[in-house]
Formats: sequence, structure tokens, C-alpha cells
Amino acid sequence: MTERLYYSDPYLTTFDAQVIAARLLEGQPAVALDRTAFYPTGGGQPHDTGTLNGVPVLETTSDGDAIWHRLAAPLPPGAAVHGQVDWARRRDHMQNHSGQHILSQALIVTAGALTVAWRLSDHSLTIDLNQTGLSDGQLASAEGLANQVVQQDQPISARFVSAAELPTLALRKQPDVEGPLRVVEIGDFDRVACGGLHVASTARVGLIKVLRAERRGPETRLHFVCGQRALADYERKHELVRSLAGRFTCGEEELPQAVERLQALADSNFKALRAAQAELVTAEAARLAALAGPGGLATGVYPTWEAEQLKQLAMALRGQPGLIIALAGGANQVLAARSADVSFDAGQALRGALAAVGGRGGGRPDFAQGAAPSWQAACQALDVLARSGDRPERAVA
Ligand SMILES: [Zn+2]
Repeated sequence: MTERLYYSDPYLTTFDAQVIAARLLEGQPAVALDRTAFYPTGGGQPHDTGTLNGVPVLETTSDGDAIWHRLAAPLPPGAAVHGQVDWARRRDHMQNHSGQHILSQALIVTAGALTVAWRLSDHSLTIDLNQTGLSDGQLASAEGLANQVVQQDQPISARFVSAAELPTLALRKQPDVEGPLRVVEIGDFDRVACGGLHVASTARVGLIKVLRAERRGPETRLHFVCGQRALADYERKHELVRSLAGRFTCGEEELPQAVERLQALADSNFKALRAAQAELVTAEAARLAALAGPGGLATGVYPTWEAEQLKQLAMALRGQPGLIIALAGGANQVLAARSADVSFDAGQALRGALAAVGGRGGGRPDFAQGAAPSWQAACQALDVLARSGDRPERAVA
């Protein structure tokens, strides 16, 4: 049985102990100590890391009795060890765990929303609430109350409570297991069963900031940050806003209008581009039809044209009598079509032409499209198409 030093002092970062057992865990050496300040994964809080006699502790787990420290190198049984807990990591876990308790109770007070699950990892902190449809206003109220509790600097304490005393305590959430249990109290604001580690007072949590809410079936998942993570999030967002304001050469407050102006400009440019493309299609259709002459082959290559523009050109040409149409466009597209009065199977011709160059495509007898594996192959397919469409025996009505 390992003595859990972190329960008597969550701020203890160094300690001396003795190795009482050694074994392999996941193929790596691991030791159990007579006493430890390393918190093992449990109760939603991730494990500590650090060193034992300078050897990195990769993971800490509990088997119920002993706490096992998975190591980067072996330590012999009986060895005296000096332990050092990675304090930055532990403090981050304690800040965010205490912040979770405060926000969970604040959500009950302001919105009647009960926390049914929570998760803390190196990069995220979430709570799942037993309801959906929480308004932005409700979330803002909960966040406001949580930060008010932080400002009040209320004490946070933990104690083991007997099974007999448990029912007399008004706990935020009914415990899943029967006592005796460890209970964490935040001043007169919150009381809940919890095996995790906490900062000594609410002020040490620092800022609590809700980032977003996400609906998950009958529940809502809230993503939030506390303390150092909230500061890092603010620094990152501040830098983002500052650099955007720099790029728009405007003040931070003027960013929304600057983005609106840019969107309006993009919209009008897009409309102008579409109008110019339509004019180009009309002019190009007239040019190709004149080159082909009545009963001829209208063909052209347009390496930068999108599929839609190429299709519009084919449609404009089909409006002219007696034409067979073969076009190539951007992304190695190849297109075959014919006027209504011509007997020519565009689908069959296109399939054959593309198959010959390793491409794929198909369609109806009057309109078909596909793509070749390269621009060179698209031009070769166009040649094949042009020859098949230029046979003298083709019938013109
Ligand atoms: Zn807890």
C-alpha cells in the first residue's frame, strides 16, 4: 500500500521514498514506492510526470493499493529515491479541475444544468450537461458567476467523509459508489465527492472562460479553459486580432466593417467575373461556329476554363445547326456534344477517345464529358474525337 502524500499536501513537489516493488508495465520498467507525491490517473484527472532519482516518470497509475511509476530506466527494489513532480503540469491540472467544479455548480445555479461527465487532457477541458438548448445568455451568466466565485477567493478543502456522514451533506451530485468518500468543498458554494487534486483557493484558478457549446444528442458539451490555459488562449487570440488589424490597416474595433467591405468587394468581383465569362462564351461560340462552317467540327482547347464554363460553351454551340463539338478544358476535362440535327453518338465517341488515353468519361449521345490523366492525354483524346467526328460518312439531316 502506497502512502498518498498528495492528499495531505497537493502542493508537495519533492519527496523521499523507498522502492517496495519493481515490475514491467507495457514492456517498460515500473516501481511502486512506500510513499509518493505522484498523482495516478483517476477521477477524470490525468497522471503526474516528473523524475525519480533523475529517471523520467512517464506515467503513474494505481492498482487500488500500490501506485506504479512507469520509468524510462529501471530502479532496483529497496533503493532510496528522491522524487520530483513536474509542477507546471500538475498545477495546470489542479487549476482546471478546480475550475471545473466551480463552473459545474455555476451552471446549476444559473441554468439548472447538471454536469453528467467531464474530461481533462493536456489540450482540452470539457463538461457534458444533461440538457440542450442553453442560450448564450445562460452560458454568459454561468461564466460570470464562476468568475465572481474566483474573485471572492473562497477556500477549497478536501476531507474523507464516513458512510454515515455522507447522507447529511448536501452534495452537488449523488456519488456512484457508497462511502467512505473524499469530499471537496469550495467555501459555501459547492460540495461534491471527488478523488482529484485542487488548488487551495478559488483565486488560484485564475480566469474561467467558456469557449464553445456543442450539442451531442440529449446533452451539451461545453469546452472551456482555466488559469494559465485561459491566459494562453487570450494571448493567442489577441495576437490574431492584432495581426488582422495590421493587415487591414485599421483599429481592432473596425475589423467587422473591414471584413464586410472585403466581402462586398469579393461579391461584386465575382458577379463581374461571371458576366465577363458569359460574354466570352458567347463570343467564343460564334467564333468556333464560323470556323467550323455548316455541318463542320467545332473544336477548341481552354486550359484555364472550369467545367461549368466549358459546358456553357458546348450548350451555346449546340444551339447552332449541324455541328459536332469537341472541347478540352481545365483539370484535363474533355467534352463531346452535337447539335440536335446531327447523327453522331457523342457518348460512345468520348468513351472510346478517353479509354485510348487512360481516362474516363461518358454521357448521352448528344452530350458527354470526362477527364484524361494529363493535359497531354486530354489533347490526344481531343484529336481522336475530332477524327471520329470528322468522318465523311456521318449523316447531316
Ligand atoms: Zn473533481
